This record gives sequence, C-alpha cells and structure tokens, in this order.
Amino acid sequence: MTSPVRVRFAPSPTGYLHVGSAHSALANWLFARRVGGEFLLRIEDTDAERNRPELVDNILEMLRWLGLDWDGEPIRQSDRGELHLAAVETLVAAHAVYACDCTAEDVQARNKAAGGKPGYDGFCRDRGLEPGPGRALRFRVPDEGRTGWDDLVRGEMSFANADLEDFVVVRGNGKPLFLLANAYDDADMGITHVIRGEDHLNNTPKYLLLQDALGLTRPEAFAHMPLLVNEQRKKLSKRRDDVSMASYRDAGYLPEAMVNYLALLGWGPPDGIEVRPVSEIVDLYRLEDVNPSPAFFDPKKLSFVNAEHLRALSTDEFLARAEPFLTRGVPSMEALRVLATEAQERVRTLTEVEPMVDFLVVDEPEVDEDSWTKAITKGKQVPEMLDASITRLDALAADAWTAEVVQEAIGAAAIDAGLVNAEGKPQLSKAQGPVRVALTGRTVGLPLWESIAVLGRDRTLARLRSTRGRLG
Ligand code: GLU
Repeated sequence: MTSPVRVRFAPSPTGYLHVGSAHSALANWLFARRVGGEFLLRIEDTDAERNRPELVDNILEMLRWLGLDWDGEPIRQSDRGELHLAAVETLVAAHAVYACDCTAEDVQARNKAAGGKPGYDGFCRDRGLEPGPGRALRFRVPDEGRTGWDDLVRGEMSFANADLEDFVVVRGNGKPLFLLANAYDDADMGITHVIRGEDHLNNTPKYLLLQDALGLTRPEAFAHMPLLVNEQRKKLSKRRDDVSMASYRDAGYLPEAMVNYLALLGWGPPDGIEVRPVSEIVDLYRLEDVNPSPAFFDPKKLSFVNAEHLRALSTDEFLARAEPFLTRGVPSMEALRVLATEAQERVRTLTEVEPMVDFLVVDEPEVDEDSWTKAITKGKQVPEMLDASITRLDALAADAWTAEVVQEAIGAAAIDAGLVNAEGKPQLSKAQGPVRVALTGRTVGLPLWESIAVLGRDRTLARLRSTRGRLG
C-alpha cells in the first residue's frame, strides 16, 4: 500500500516571498490538491545569520493571497533543534561523520599544491579527532557506488559518490547545517514527495545519504522545478528583476492570474488553453509534464494573463477588486458601473483603473504637460472648439444629459468650430482632444461621451470654462 501523499513547502525567511519560491510552492500545492494529499508548510529558520524573522509574515501573507492554503499549523524548523542534535548524535555514534579542524584556507592550499579538484580532500577522515568546539562534523561519503532518485521532472537521477565531497553536517560552533535539518525533518514529517527548486539538485544526493545513515525512510520521489530566468536568460535576481510577490499584488495583479501564470512556467495544459481557472489547473497539472529547462519569467505575458482574468470577472467583482486601488477616492457606484465594462476591457492591472476614473473624484483634473502640449498647444481650432462645446452643452437640459445627446452636441460644436472633413462631417477625433484634456487632464481614457455623461453637466461646463480661461 502506498502512503497518502504528503508534500511541503519549506521556505527560508531570508527574503520576501519571490516568484521563484512561489513557483515551487504552487507545484507542491497543485500536486497535493489534485491527489487529495496534504500540503504542509515548514519555515526553515535555522540559519540565524541569514534569517530575518520579520519576513515570515510576508511569506504567509503572500501564500494566503495566492490562495495556496496549507494544512495544519506552519512548522518552525527552529523549534526542532533538539531533534536535529539527537540526529547528529546518531550520526556520530554510527561513525557516519567525523570531526574536522581544517580551515577553508588549509583545504584550498592543499588542493592547490596537489593540483587536484576543488572541494574537501578527506584530510581528517582517518585522523580520529574527537568532536569538540571549533571542529566541524563532516559526512563520510562512501567512496564507491551511486546515489540516485526518481525525479518526476527529470527522470532517473544519479550521482557517483566518488564525486561528492565529505560535506559539513555540523559547523564548528555546534550548529547543524540546513542539509541535516532539511533531510531529517522531511523524513520525520513523513514527506512523500519533495518538490523544490533546481538550485537544490546538488543537495539531494547528500540529503539521501544523510537519511540512509540515520536509518530514515527516503521520500518516494522528488521533483526539481526549473529555474526561472529573465529575458537575458539569467537567473532571476532580487537586485535586477522585479521578483517579490508583494510587488505584483501591489501593482494590481489578481492572485488567480498570478497562479495561472506561474503554473505555465515550465508547463502547459494538454489542450493548449493557457488562461483558465485555477480549479482546472489543479486537475490538469502533472509534474511529469514539467519541462526541466529554465523557464522565462515574462512580465509581458503575465500582464496578458492578468488582463484576461480581469475581463473574465463580473462587473461587480471587477469593481470590488479595483476599489482598494482607488487611492484618490472612490467615485459613486452608479458612475463606476457605467464605466466599469469599458475599463475592464482596457486595463491590464488594477492600478490602471484609477487614472481612468479619477477625473470623477478630483476637484480639478491635473493636466500633465505632455497632454496639454499635445491636445491644446498643438491642437487645431482649440479655442473655437472649447467655445462651441460650452455653447452647445450649455444649451442641454440637465435631465437630457446622456452619452448620445452629449455626442451629438460635441459633433455640432466641431462643425461650429470648423473641424470638418471634405464631406462636411465633424472630425470627432480632433474635436475630442481638447475636450478630453479639459475634463480628465489626459489625452487617453475611457470613451468620452460616457465619461461626460457620468461627470455631469455642471462639472463638465465648469472644467471647459476653466480650460478656456487658461487659454486667454
Ligand atoms: N529552505 C530551502 C530554500 O528556501 C528549501 C529547501 C527545500 O525545499 O527542500 O531554498
């Protein structure tokens, strides 16, 4: 009988949750949810120097935001120190480790003199040093044989033991290293599948040797997820690339779009339909279908996927999601509802909604210089167009103020101002520029007639007059 699937996401709180670790977390979650297994969370916070405890909150918050719910309470690796020390005792008693007092410089100098390969040369292996302060404990890697595993992403993997150095398990200060805690905890927690980033590939043979030496049960399988790279095919870096999950949330990405996009890194659904609900991805995702080659994290494609998810929302849902991003004030629901579908068609992120609707909440739109130059300074017949618009719109009754009526009035104003084509028809695109800038402060935005309709008669006339006044 095979044991029920149990996987874990094991982040180290050394940085904010970034897209690479979220990619691994997602692969664990998708696997567990599809097969009805458990998805556990273990915070690997044993490296006191690199650890930043305040980042744990960010990791949990971002996993919650993404909807990657875990089972049970998060486990803190630092609470398990005694278990790790007991495991070290077991290794010492079994002579699986030996004490070593070499410094890195000693090892380097010997390697240089011998013209040999880098890495530890086994100098202390048979010296019989007593373990003690200042002495590391190194694992006695077998000279022969191979250590291998079944990797769901990469197939059968195997390393020659002769190529592995006698690696450090416990530092000279008595602190067990990540490798030991990691391998011990997985076995102790009954983890059946270890799904993690490619950067751990070289750790896996050591991990397995440790588990064997401790008499622990190995996981059934591993999956080493592909590395994520940027456009230059370089590993994503915190310095160079925008990688923190929080920055995407704050930039107006939907969590379901982020999950959808992350799933597509290194994987594609068999039917080729890439943009889809997360529930469908749970059913379709197979680690065996993940491509081990580095995957390009493409912000443009992420935007595209996000835009598709935004469009798939109901109007109410779209407005509810957009509301927290309306930092300058929230227009009336009535006004928003009229513009929502138009906005929904155009935005790629929720932060793009505000510049489309903020003309409804500001007292006076702020006109940026480029827009002013483009539509007013360089526009044709601008004073005439503004004057004619004021006259035509002023003639409309407040209760007749609809998008259609407004459009007609602006069309008539264009003719009054001489903005006509060869057939005598109003040149609406030219006519709209100065009006739009007067009302919204920008040259681009939502359809103008609807915008004027929701802005209302009084504010529309006041803004047109004020802009006309600025022209003198
Ligand atoms: N704590 C490790 C890291 O954040 C992950 C280890 C693992 O998943 O096995 O890179």
